[in-house]
Amino acid sequence: MYKSITVKIGSNVLTRPDRQLDLERISHLTDQIATLHKKGIKIILVSSGAVASGRGMVANPPKKDPVSERQLLSSVGQIKLVSTYASLFEAHGITCAQVLVTKEDFRTREHYLNMKNCLSVLLEHNIVPIINENDAVSVTALMFTDNDELAGLVATMMNTEAYFILSNVDGIYTGNPGDKGVKLIEEISGTTTDLSAFITAKKSNFGRGGMLTKGRVAQNTAAAGIAVHIANGTQQNVLVDLAYQKTSVAHTRFVPGTPRPAVKKWMACSADFTNWEVHINKGAREALYSKKATSLLLAGITSMRGDFKKGDLLRIIDHEKRLIGIGKAQYDRQKADEHLKDPKYKPLVHYDYLYLFP
Ligand code: GLU
Repeated sequence: MYKSITVKIGSNVLTRPDRQLDLERISHLTDQIATLHKKGIKIILVSSGAVASGRGMVANPPKKDPVSERQLLSSVGQIKLVSTYASLFEAHGITCAQVLVTKEDFRTREHYLNMKNCLSVLLEHNIVPIINENDAVSVTALMFTDNDELAGLVATMMNTEAYFILSNVDGIYTGNPGDKGVKLIEEISGTTTDLSAFITAKKSNFGRGGMLTKGRVAQNTAAAGIAVHIANGTQQNVLVDLAYQKTSVAHTRFVPGTPRPAVKKWMACSADFTNWEVHINKGAREALYSKKATSLLLAGITSMRGDFKKGDLLRIIDHEKRLIGIGKAQYDRQKADEHLKDPKYKPLVHYDYLYLFP
C-alpha cells in the first residue's frame, strides 16, 4: 500500500457529456479518497474541471477571445468545483483546502519552498489539499501544459510515493485504442524513451493535455523516483485498487527510478525559467549520461549564451540542439571565457547541481 499519493483527476472524468459536473462520479472519487485518508495515507488532489464546470454555468462565454473565456469560466467554475468537493469531504468528517498555483510559483527556489511549506502544513493537519492552476490569472505563455504537468511537479516537490493520473482511458496503448491488435502497455521502464512511437497526439474532449503529455510527464516524474500510474478514473474503485497496488486494475505503470536530492528536483522544474545556455559536444553529452557521476567541464563546451553569474541556472544543449538538462553555474561567464581552453579548470557545473532529463 502506498503511504503518500498525488492524484490528478482530469476534466473528462469529472464532467458528463452535457458539460455539467458529474456529481455521482465526484462523490465516488471522494469516497475513495476518504477511505484512503482514514487509513493514514497522505493524499494531494490535483483537480481539473474549473473551466468545464464554468461552461455549464455561463450562458454566452466570449468564444472569440479564448483568454477571457478561460478567465471567466474558470473563476466561476472553480468555486462550484471546490465547494462540491468540500461538502462531499465534510460528510466524511474531512477538511479540504484550495490551493491555486501558477507556473511562476515554481520559478525561484524561495517561492517553491513557500509552496512546499503550505502543502506540508496542510498534510500535517490531516487536510486534503485540492490544487488547480490559477486559470483566472495565468496567461498563455506562462501556463502549465496541463494539470498533468502541474501534478507531476507537485508529486516531485512533495516526494509522494506515487502519482496517479486519472483520465477517461485505461492507460497508454501500443497504438490507437480500439484498433485491431492494439494492446494496453502495462509497464514502462525508464529505458523506454520514445513514447511518441505509439501514442497519437489526439486530445480528449475537455482537458488541455493529451496522452503524449501524460506519457512525458509520467516518465519525468518516474525518473525522480515516484511510481506513476495512468488509469481510468471512471472505473469503479480505481483509486483504492491502485493505492493497494492491485495488479488486476487495467492501467499503465511507470517504474520509478532512483530518488533524487531535493535541489535537483527543483532544478528539474526550472528549465522554462532561464535563458542562459551552454552548448556541449558529443563527448561531453556521452560523459554526462554515463553511469559515473560526471560534472560538466569547460572542455566539453562549444559555445555559451548570456552573461550568467555564479549560481545562475544554465540550460544544457547537446550537439543535436536538444535541451538535455539544467545545471547551476559554479562561476560567472567571464571566468568561463577566461579558462575555456584550460582542460583542468574546475567544472562549470558540478554533478551535485546538475539535472539531466531522462
Ligand atoms: N485547470 C484547468 C481546469 O481546471 C484544466 C487544465 C487541464 O485540462 O489539465 O479547468
